Amino acid sequence: MVFAKARAVDGPDKPFRAAEIKRRELDLHDVLIEIKYAGICHSDIHTAHGEWGPVNYPLVPGHEIAGIVIAVGSDVTKYKVGDRVGVGCMVDSCRECENCQKGEEQYCVEGNIPTYAGAGKYGEPTQGGYSTHIVVTEDFVVKIPDSIELDVAAPLLCAGITTYSPLNHWGAGPGKKVAVVGLGGLGHMAVQIAHAMGAEVTVLSQSLKKKEDGLALGADHYYATSDPETFKQLANTFDLIINTVSAKINLNAYLRLLNLDGTLVNVGAPAEPLSLNVGNLINRRRSFAGSLIGGIRETQEMLDFCAQHNIAPKIEVISADQIDEAYKRVLASDVKYRFVIDTSTM
Ligand code: NAP
Ligand code: ZN
Ligand code: ZN
Repeated sequence: MVFAKARAVDGPDKPFRAAEIKRRELDLHDVLIEIKYAGICHSDIHTAHGEWGPVNYPLVPGHEIAGIVIAVGSDVTKYKVGDRVGVGCMVDSCRECENCQKGEEQYCVEGNIPTYAGAGKYGEPTQGGYSTHIVVTEDFVVKIPDSIELDVAAPLLCAGITTYSPLNHWGAGPGKKVAVVGLGGLGHMAVQIAHAMGAEVTVLSQSLKKKEDGLALGADHYYATSDPETFKQLANTFDLIINTVSAKINLNAYLRLLNLDGTLVNVGAPAEPLSLNVGNLINRRRSFAGSLIGGIRETQEMLDFCAQHNIAPKIEVISADQIDEAYKRVLASDVKYRFVIDTSTM
């Protein structure tokens, strides 16, 4: 049994506090990871605040995990002590269903086992990456390429794969016009990845405050959604829109920005339902879709793609005592562009 230092929250309105959590003994195929960095995803905030439904507290969030393997179970073949590895939003799945067999474990028909706020293989509550150690089965661990530092690697495990997967699935590439709504943690990864895939990229942000950053990340165009002219000027333009906004937006206004056969993919997961007028789909045969993170194989592919294209998130490293403050800043869209906890400060 390993005791890990962690930061836990005891209720929707409670601050983070220091905690000690137990990690299970290594099973035959488990690896023990010393976590070095953990990113703060907006999903951590939705969950910690109980916005997506009831949560069992105390809760240790964190599903953007980068660290070093420090012990391996007796039958582990993929990793050895000293390897630089990552863990994302899930730590296991049934592995047998049709979706798991396709490498889409995030859509496991039994439900994947989330890195936190789920039930582990022995029914124990899973606890996430705001901690110093974690035990994960080797099949749900990915290798971090040597050229990517561990602090910038962490956000790739959720923000990176959640945007890479739909861009890949809906064929972002040369000749395709892609818009990214919201330049936050996910959005700033979507811009870099879509640009590297060869698409023409437009950022749709609430204001022009981050325009310089957006263009430097690889966007070709940048518009403010607070300006009604934006929606007139860009009507019927895009092949693909990736909506990363964490709050409710006027979906209909964005659907009308899609060209013939265009698709708006929602990765943002606001607690409130969004309403849409089907006329906006019927007209120009548009689609509205969603996408959940990505499978393990695709996560490894994304990491290798980022290494190859020198793609990295822009991060602000914080200490464990700054988590509450970071949450407030994320909620105020005051993040450039991902907070990452240095777990040595636990
Ligand atoms: P984030 O860093 O807070 O970014 C969200 C961005 O949305 C903000 O930076 C802001 O961009 C824009 N925004 C925020 N409030 C808005 C509002 N009221 N109206 C319009 N725009 C607004 O969050 P994130 O970590 O990227 O996560 C984004 C969402 O994706 C969350 O809901 C999260 O739970 C979800 N998520 C889903 C998956 C999945 O698998 N589908 C995975 C990870 C995260 P501007 O300042 O540029 O306007
Ligand atoms: Zn996430
Ligand atoms: Zn399955």
